[in-house]
Amino acid sequence: MPSSSSSSAPTPAAPSKMYADDVSVVVVLLDANPFFWSSAASPLPFSSFLSHVLPFLNSVLLMNQMNQLVVIATGRNYCDYIYDSSAPTNRKTGNGKMTALSCDLVAKLEEFVVKDEKLGKGESNGAVMSSLLSGSLSMALCFIQRIFRSGTFHPHPRILCLHGSPDGPEQYVAIMNAIFSAQRSMVPIDSCYIGALNSAFLQQASYITGGVYLKPQLMDGLLQYLTTVFATDLHSRAFLQLPKSVGVDFRASCFCHKKTIDMGYICSVCISIFCKHHKKCLTCGSVFGQAQSDAASETNKRKTIRT
Ligand SMILES: [Zn+2]
Ligand SMILES: [Zn+2]
Repeated sequence: MPSSSSSSAPTPAAPSKMYADDVSVVVVLLDANPFFWSSAASPLPFSSFLSHVLPFLNSVLLMNQMNQLVVIATGRNYCDYIYDSSAPTNRKTGNGKMTALSCDLVAKLEEFVVKDEKLGKGESNGAVMSSLLSGSLSMALCFIQRIFRSGTFHPHPRILCLHGSPDGPEQYVAIMNAIFSAQRSMVPIDSCYIGALNSAFLQQASYITGGVYLKPQLMDGLLQYLTTVFATDLHSRAFLQLPKSVGVDFRASCFCHKKTIDMGYICSVCISIFCKHHKKCLTCGSVFGQAQSDAASETNKRKTIRT
């Protein structure tokens, strides 16, 4: 080899194939809605939930030393990044040991919950309120876009929603947009839903993006569910028997009242959904239904008169 080759362009940071193959970047959306966890709808206390989730998060990091883990807390009023394993403070210490994930994460989570509760003061009226899932999904996708743009070689990221709060139909449009954006970027959205009823949003998210939707039956075995279903990288997933979706609730929310509906009217121009008939589309202003057919029959009448 000529000596000049040694002074060529800088080599990529990591070898290509291996780095992109069995390495995981997992963005975990952790439901920290204080109103849900303090309500009767939550099947277990938040502290028990964390006692299952923290060992799982640690196991993801232990599977491969290049794995990256980001945790976003989803609250009632806001969302925030609460942990990133690639942050300089969370990297390996000088003696090669990993710094403890739990202390840092739990402290940040505590701050988050206090702030979220403060922001939502006076709002609680007994009913269980939904979490800001659309916000945390958008934050996760922004983070993933940054990874995509960071260079040619990067692991394949995925999103994992650990969720319990009920769906908020008012977030329908924002959540569907996030789901389609994830589908376009080929980012699977996995969901582990522990609420009382199934979550139509998460069922659709996992179905559309090719992720796994799981509703654990036994809360005592939550850690086992998490590690067997969600800990493996996307490459190894092809060799596993993962839970198949038994049915997806495809119901939509109307754009006019943000209510979940079984049947409705759809604008053929912009695909907005309405629960009742409108003369004009509230989104794009297209005239439809009776009004348009009246206009059409008017022109038809004119035509027939002319002929
Ligand atoms: Zn409506
Ligand atoms: Zn329209």
